[in-house]
Amino acid sequence: MRYSKKQLQYAIHMLRRIGMENLECSIKYLSRLESLYGKMVSYPSARSYSGIGWSYSVTECIEQLKQELHLKRNRAAIKRSDSKDYLTSTDLASYNYCPVSYAIQNTFLIEHPNNEDATEVGKRLHEQLLSARTNWHISSSSGSDVSPVERKIFDECKLVFAGHSSDQNIFIKDDWRGIPDYIFEDNAGKFFVVEEKFQMKRDPAKMSHDEWIDDKFGGTGVDVEAQKARREWEEFKGFFYSNHIVQLASYIQNITSYDLSYGYLIYWYYDYNGDQEPYIHKMVLKKVILDSATQALYHNTVSGVKNLVESKKQQFDISKLNMKKCVGCVVSKYCGHKSGKYEELQFPYASSYMQLFQAELPDEKLISTIV
Ligand code: SF4
Repeated sequence: MRYSKKQLQYAIHMLRRIGMENLECSIKYLSRLESLYGKMVSYPSARSYSGIGWSYSVTECIEQLKQELHLKRNRAAIKRSDSKDYLTSTDLASYNYCPVSYAIQNTFLIEHPNNEDATEVGKRLHEQLLSARTNWHISSSSGSDVSPVERKIFDECKLVFAGHSSDQNIFIKDDWRGIPDYIFEDNAGKFFVVEEKFQMKRDPAKMSHDEWIDDKFGGTGVDVEAQKARREWEEFKGFFYSNHIVQLASYIQNITSYDLSYGYLIYWYYDYNGDQEPYIHKMVLKKVILDSATQALYHNTVSGVKNLVESKKQQFDISKLNMKKCVGCVVSKYCGHKSGKYEELQFPYASSYMQLFQAELPDEKLISTIV
């Protein structure tokens, strides 16, 4: 970790304030925060030839924790969401991701989500691909930038539905609601649904730090580690999350206007170019059918949500807490359960889970053992 001693002391103190007393969990949490928010920043430098110096900063990690404390200190002001008598495909995905996440998102209006920038980029890319797909189906001349894998799947398929977050064309069946990203008709006349997700991943094809130094100062230009990473990334076939599979399964199960036979889950990986514009550098995909395993996953998720909503409480297994997942969680700032303090989950989410605790600054000797 590249926090200074003071930053680490302050960060662990803030985690103790939200109830996280386990040092190992705190270190895992901070280390994951760093991998998401740590970055190189520029500053004016008289010592640099260009007048600009660069240094590594974890200021944003500290800022994220400060925002969480601020939100929880003012928890009485957090707006509540309207209760509803139906389940959406995203409810099922969020419950499968973590029941606490479902409870929080169905209790409060989430005005301070984590990873807001990534969500915004995902929306922008979704819009770009939406228009590209549409044009591509109308005119084959626009297919030049379509990868062979995409071509294999979508070639000769007809786009029959393209969803949008503000879409009024919501699909409804009993107490279920959902809007998929796309529905296509394949060349055998079968309909299939497509759900796409966007993930930021540094493009391994970019020059590594060592290659950059070699390029500037005339070294060998060979970085064995970077070459290995490129090969591995090329062979990477994807790791698909069960919450996304549940979401896709809920479309296949419940959309009746089209006789859906199967679905595709697509992950698009993006990085930023020199102008800080996102670009796609890889896609992986998984075909999802309603086999017995997928049906069991879907039905277990539905009954889990219904059980929580009806009984208003559920056991929460703290042994399954995963700090990597918690840092990436959209409602992390609202969550008290990540502290490992609560083994019961109440629904609606109880504000008392968001209470702050008295905490001492960690001892400097302890900090020295970590840095
Ligand atoms: S922060 Fe962790 S425990 Fe809390 S809702 Fe998210 S994933 Fe669940």
